[in-house]
Amino acid sequence: MLHSIAKVAVSLNVDGVTNNLVERLYTNKRKVSPHLSRRFQILGYHKVSPDEHPFFEPLPPDIFEKQMQFLKSCYRVMSLQELVDRSARGEVPERAVAITFDDGYRDNYDYAFPILRKYKFPATIFLATGAIGSGKLIWHDRIFDAFRFATVDRARVEDAAVPELKLQTAEARQRSLESTLVRAKTLYGDQRRRFIDDIESKLRPVLPEDADQRMLNWDQVREMHRAGIEFGSHTVSHTILSQIPRSEMSKELRGSKEELSDQLGAPISSFAYPNGKATDYNSEAKAVIRECGYSCAVTCCSGFNHAFSDVFELKRGLPWQREIEVFRLKFFLQRHGLAS
Ligand SMILES: [Zn+2]
Repeated sequence: MLHSIAKVAVSLNVDGVTNNLVERLYTNKRKVSPHLSRRFQILGYHKVSPDEHPFFEPLPPDIFEKQMQFLKSCYRVMSLQELVDRSARGEVPERAVAITFDDGYRDNYDYAFPILRKYKFPATIFLATGAIGSGKLIWHDRIFDAFRFATVDRARVEDAAVPELKLQTAEARQRSLESTLVRAKTLYGDQRRRFIDDIESKLRPVLPEDADQRMLNWDQVREMHRAGIEFGSHTVSHTILSQIPRSEMSKELRGSKEELSDQLGAPISSFAYPNGKATDYNSEAKAVIRECGYSCAVTCCSGFNHAFSDVFELKRGLPWQREIEVFRLKFFLQRHGLAS
């Protein structure tokens, strides 16, 4: 249904016609209401790859390319940092958009980077630095793998907060995975490591040989950086900031920033909240981010940004729609505050 509506809207060029009229009415003047303010959208990608994943599906490269092609013809893609700076100066141009990626998957280098180069688009990749060039995986991938490649179909784990794991059907497996993820999101450090070690020892996954090769290494990061890709922090261990004490927040935020700036020989100023929902960060986290010298932080709450936006709580759309017409319609509705 949505796809049919989107197809009609696209065939009538509803977004193009409306943008032509409305974008020039939006202004950078701070005195006006945010509804009339010049705006910019931030797209938040994760994996771009032809691989299939039952729990954390990548965006296929051909669909990613269609989205980039569309942005090239109808919008103005700029780097996140430039848009944040321009917003502060009241110089956001019409039709502005920034592209970002979270986590640091190697497929960003293999598939997304060549497409970004083809369209000459800047982008920002937020790295969970503990998983870069270390052969380690982000904790959620260890959990996904344990469920995806499990060799048992039920198990009881030591943590009493997690009900017995049942993997006999796809639905049961999904439910057990959800309760495991919910629990893991509340943990950090050794406690989370022990929890995941236990999950792995109970589900006994047999992993594919290249399982530890799925994150970027520092050579790839540096090569992309030289080609104009920006990098930002996504913490060291992808821990949910609202779940940890201030001292731990500080370690995650400083540690990742230092490692990134050492590896790149450049200052690091942007941050992306792990998980990024409104409950995954709080005012304390925002204060620590500021203290650590970051100039902006992006969430996974959808919507558009403007000169009045809190730069430590920037909104992002997650463009996981497969049909380009649906992507285009949602993008347009979000841009003008007509959909969340
Ligand atoms: Zn993430």
